[in-house]
Amino acid sequence: MAHSNRDPTTSRHVAVIGAGAAGLVTARELRREGHSVVVLERGSQIGGVWTYTSQVEPDPLSLDPTRPVVHSSVYKSLRTNIPRECMGFTDFPFAARPHDGSRDPRRHPGHSEVLAYLRDFAKEFDVEEMIRFETEVVRAEPAADEENRGKWRVESRSSDGAADEIYDAVVVCNGHYTEPRIDSWPGKQIHSHNYRVPDPFKDQIVIVIGSSASGVDISRDIAKVAKEVHVSSRSTSPDTYEMLPGYDNLWLHPVIETARKDGSVVFQNGKTVYADTIMHCTGYKYYFPFLDTKGEVTVDDNRVGPLYKHVFPPALAPGLSFIGLPWQITPFPMFELQSKWVAAVLSGRVSLPSQDEMMEDTKAFYNKLEASGIPKRYTHLMPDDSQFEYDNWLADQCDYPRIEKWREEMFYIGFKRIYAQSATYRDNWDDDHLIVEAYDDFVKFMS
Ligand code: FAD
Repeated sequence: MAHSNRDPTTSRHVAVIGAGAAGLVTARELRREGHSVVVLERGSQIGGVWTYTSQVEPDPLSLDPTRPVVHSSVYKSLRTNIPRECMGFTDFPFAARPHDGSRDPRRHPGHSEVLAYLRDFAKEFDVEEMIRFETEVVRAEPAADEENRGKWRVESRSSDGAADEIYDAVVVCNGHYTEPRIDSWPGKQIHSHNYRVPDPFKDQIVIVIGSSASGVDISRDIAKVAKEVHVSSRSTSPDTYEMLPGYDNLWLHPVIETARKDGSVVFQNGKTVYADTIMHCTGYKYYFPFLDTKGEVTVDDNRVGPLYKHVFPPALAPGLSFIGLPWQITPFPMFELQSKWVAAVLSGRVSLPSQDEMMEDTKAFYNKLEASGIPKRYTHLMPDDSQFEYDNWLADQCDYPRIEKWREEMFYIGFKRIYAQSATYRDNWDDDHLIVEAYDDFVKFMS
């Protein structure tokens, strides 16, 4: 761990952009470290993606840059894909409570339970008093004037008008599940960002592109009412053509070879389907329309970089940082550890390597990805045990306990379960022993 000799009490004035799970825990950690914090949140409530709304965007593929943005991509039937015990923040358990019927006690609860948990968190740590709601950051850039050199200019808009303020640092927590990533085909199409309920697909033939978490959920949701659902998966062999167990209208195919104007789609297995709708469950793009770093940070094929350890751009550290970029992870504990690190670096309690050293480390990481044939767009994907290695590295930086063994094990087992029993994994499991361990651990945080 790199501890600094600087005055450990340095308090900075910090802007946090976004009040989703990442912004909430970042605000808490920054204040705990002695900083003064303003959270700027475009929406009218906390929770980010977990603020379900039946509202969708007018453009079903969300391609129009001038469209009114609906932030959340959560659909009505969504239940968590991570068991609640390992999903929560490390010192504020996402336990099933209270037992009075007012909450969803399931191990994989619905989205409203996650929002309720985040509200409990915000209340417990008085986070809301730091938040300015309905305030959209429209520009964040290094201050150009001599007097504010090294600081950040943040412009925002709210019903009170426009504000132009100077901060010592900006922490970006704007989420990355709002801006769809799409390869467009002819015919009627929608991205899962704008999917809420299955009803509009009644009696239709639907092709679902993508078989990760949302693709799995949404194809099954739609199969309840549609005539046929055909899932196109990148991770299956080219000749795959199978009906999914428990269904008589849900097929798995490999990737699409061509899609024609008449609505016919040919899969790599040679099968042709005349689709009423193509549903893109193809993921999202990192998008920071408000950020002007004068080219120091770019998004290139979905790599946000260069970033040291996915958080600090070497040339602009520690004034600019990003929380929550990695994916295929258990996000809340990682947000917590990343924000502890940022808070400690900003106060001077922990120091960063030099700009050159950070750059070298980052380049070495990119070279390693390239040498392994991993495309840029997977830069922030953390497969296998790299997530917990990373979490533990962060914890070590801040002198915080490492991730609990039960949490690691539960995550892996849970992840395997999603693929082994995709229809039933939320209600059938065999890791009760880990739940017991988790609750034994939670006792010290629960009154
Ligand atoms: P968000 O929740 O997206 O919050 C970002 C906030 O920033 C929003 O409130 C937004 O309004 C605000 N904002 C954006 N731009 C601006 C701006 N310019 N100015 C001001 N404010 C701005 N994770 C799990 O742990 N378990 C799950 O089961 C799970 N399921 C998921 C299912 C779906 C369909 C999706 C999309 C995600 C799921 N996730 C899950 C991942 C989820 O995204 C994270 O858990 C986490 O909630 C993300 O938090 P965040 O704060 O990074 O981003």
